[in-house]
Amino acid sequence: MSDCLFCSIADGKIKASVVYQDDAVVAFKDIAPRAPVHILIIPRKHVIGVPEIEDGDRALIGKIFQVAAKLAREQGIAEGGFRVVVNSGADAGQSVFHLHYHLLGGRRMNWPPG
Ligand code: AMP
Repeated sequence: MSDCLFCSIADGKIKASVVYQDDAVVAFKDIAPRAPVHILIIPRKHVIGVPEIEDGDRALIGKIFQVAAKLAREQGIAEGGFRVVVNSGADAGQSVFHLHYHLLGGRRMNWPPG
């Protein structure tokens, strides 16, 4: 989608600190990190949010979690613990309407989240 920030990052039209990419998935550092490790993992495909995930996206969603696990290992947070968070919809605080998974770690997390 031409006016989508994360599509533009995935296409390389807007710069980001990319830590992983393949034909289906891109991961880059969050511009306003909320933890020592804060990486966003997105599908290249423009999916708005969780309700818009389709049957055909199953492998894509699985791939995103595989990338999250790989990055957690690489970032040294796999053993201590980390979060993979999706804010879906306005009430959850979603501000960019291209599905993205926050990989957060490197500090103690609270529960429940705010
Ligand atoms: P959410 O509030 O769940 O929609 O998350 C959107 C995230 O995108 C926030 O954590 C922002 O800090 C992050 N963000 C916004 N613009 C950029 C950008 N240009 N590069 C990297 N991260 C961004």
